[in-house]
Amino acid sequence: MAAFNLDDYIRKVPDFPKKGILFYDITSVLAAPKAFKYCIDKMVEIFKGKQIDAVAAIEARGFLFAAPFAAVMGIPLIPIRKKGKLPGVTLSKKYDLEYAQAEIEVHSADVPRGKRVLITDDLIATGGTLNAARSLLVEGGAEVPEFFGIVGLPFLNYRQILEPTPVTTLLTYDSE
Ligand code: AMP
Repeated sequence: MAAFNLDDYIRKVPDFPKKGILFYDITSVLAAPKAFKYCIDKMVEIFKGKQIDAVAAIEARGFLFAAPFAAVMGIPLIPIRKKGKLPGVTLSKKYDLEYAQAEIEVHSADVPRGKRVLITDDLIATGGTLNAARSLLVEGGAEVPEFFGIVGLPFLNYRQILEPTPVTTLLTYDSE
């Protein structure tokens, strides 16, 4: 039997959301139960032996992978959302995206002081979002031992901005 190839399940959409961006779409992974299960199983396999106390995820596509992962691992899920979506007291951070500017927030009461929080997203491009998420969690008193993404675009140099925290992805693309 041929090895499972996750790349077969990632839809590539040129010039979205604007000209010059090749968008790696994971909705095609969600639509294929075998591919979705492969991702969650891999995440659990990678992190089950490590000391991870909670998982934080970035709105919205990051939630889709982190939620089943948190349930299987039996750890809390900390949603990191776009500004204005969380009703409680929040910490917030502005940052630059590959193709826009943004601000993210977390409920300060959800950040576990002194605990090890894995930060996840569907795709890591410049690393700006994860870097901002790390600032939020560290400001709230948590530790961030690792980052995880289903897809990584290392040619956008995310490892540099995310140093010294290790970054794991299931799949990388070398150039657009
Ligand atoms: P960044 O902060 O540059 O690492 O951007 C990561 C965020 O933007 C993630 O939430 C991704 O879902 C989204 N994103 C950025 N670039 C792309 C791309 N080329 N394809 C799909 N999603 C992207």
